[in-house]
Amino acid sequence: MTSHEIRKAFLDFFKSKEHLIVPSAPLVAKNDPTLMFNNSGMAQFKDFFLGNGTPPSKRIADTQKCLRVSGKHNDLEDVGFDTYHHTMFEMLGNWSFGDYFKKEALEWSWELLTEVYKLPKDRIYVSVFGGDEKDGVPFDQEAYDIWKTMVSEDRIILGNKKDNFWEMGDTGPCGPCSEIHIDLRDQAEVDILGGKELVNNDHPQVVEIWNNVFMQFERKADKSLVPLPAKHVDTGMGFERLCMAIQGKKSNYDTDVFQNTIQVIEQMSGKKYGENGTLSSNSYVDVAMRVIADHLRAVAFTIADGQLPSNAKAGYVIRRILRRAVRYGYSYLGFNEPFMSKLVPVLADQFADVFPELKAQQDFVTRVVEEEEKSFLRTLETGIRRFEALNPENGIISGDVVFELSDTFGFPVDLTALLAKEKGLKIDEEGFQKALLEQKTRSRQDSAKEATDWVELNEGSDFEFVGYDEVSAEAQIIKYRKV
Ligand code: ATP
Ligand code: MG
Ligand code: MG
Ligand code: MG
Repeated sequence: MTSHEIRKAFLDFFKSKEHLIVPSAPLVAKNDPTLMFNNSGMAQFKDFFLGNGTPPSKRIADTQKCLRVSGKHNDLEDVGFDTYHHTMFEMLGNWSFGDYFKKEALEWSWELLTEVYKLPKDRIYVSVFGGDEKDGVPFDQEAYDIWKTMVSEDRIILGNKKDNFWEMGDTGPCGPCSEIHIDLRDQAEVDILGGKELVNNDHPQVVEIWNNVFMQFERKADKSLVPLPAKHVDTGMGFERLCMAIQGKKSNYDTDVFQNTIQVIEQMSGKKYGENGTLSSNSYVDVAMRVIADHLRAVAFTIADGQLPSNAKAGYVIRRILRRAVRYGYSYLGFNEPFMSKLVPVLADQFADVFPELKAQQDFVTRVVEEEEKSFLRTLETGIRRFEALNPENGIISGDVVFELSDTFGFPVDLTALLAKEKGLKIDEEGFQKALLEQKTRSRQDSAKEATDWVELNEGSDFEFVGYDEVSAEAQIIKYRKV
């Protein structure tokens, strides 16, 4: 099955179970002060679970664009080095708002995986919440008994609070989860080593694909748990991981979700992906191609959803991600001209029928990315030279130098940390924060230079570049004007 067919099969399946199919919410979380980016399928439905508002249907399913680069869920540092965590990914989900509960949810997930997708039953593990006496939350006997009718008991795992209990916050709705994991190793290895203990252990081929959350309690301020009057189901399945499992690949990047982009990167760089096998994390050519294929999606879809790169908040997160990708391309693939922007149309075409917002704004997004790249490429080379010349005696790059790299050359602190790691060095993060604070104090006294540096886009590509405000490399402000 192609990734398009896999996504469609998911939505068709839940449609046949009377779910309303809704579009993905934008990546930028608009009405939630606790969240910068949507990082799960349920984020757009949070209010319904809290009892504020009524859902358009008691059963909903969709594919949600998610970004896990900040806050509670931050997978940025894993990207490129492992094969199954992305910054931006699609989370397929189905929801019951006070309608069906554990039996239907678990039976349908089993039916979909084993009958529609035909994943082998003897490669699937499921987990249920094993209980936590100290916290007063019971073992999820109900889920265990449902699984027992479908899965042999030696494939059911009792999980802990970290993996198998979900809470919205310190108070509010919460409940046990039941996860589904798949073992994609070669049969010979499975025969020799077994696999149960590899679940939830960061094994690249024994991966979690689906999480079923059962909201059945409310956590009160005094920490007690009371049953919710209406019980809900919230599920999330990693689309790219599912494609890896169904397409029989060992890495998400080997699926058709990413291969398109990777092939274009190969052509552009004249370098080959996966020369030493597609799982190698010590080949920086491979890491760079994975990072670029991943970060391109995060950057392009976020811009299409209205968040421009900037120097603050969500905009700076996007700028940082883009700069990481540009530097990987520069250092390992020989790109010293904009290249990310050339990949935007490839991505836009691939997702035209799923997330048409990118295709609709393709030219605009391409220009934004290109301007960002040009701006960073102006200082990248000299910045890298400055970095390469460093040879700190204690192996720690001082806060002042980290600040200089940021202020003069536009190297976000996480990028400098990454460069340092590649050389076996560390950075003085605290010293950097101190230097940053001192600069902020200085510039507050100089507020004449202040300008707002991002706008929200509501009307597609009605914006054009009008140039830069040169303050310093890091503070380069790209200006847009409504045309
Ligand atoms: P993991 O333990 O692998 O980090 P998780 O437990 O944090 O995953 P959930 O919050 O349960 O993930 O999200 C539901 C599903 O979304 C997961 O089962 C997984 O398939 C997928 N998923 C989570 N994080 C990522 C990511 N960074 N990239 C791709 N898919 C992801
Ligand atoms: Mg995680
Ligand atoms: Mg997990
Ligand atoms: Mg999980």
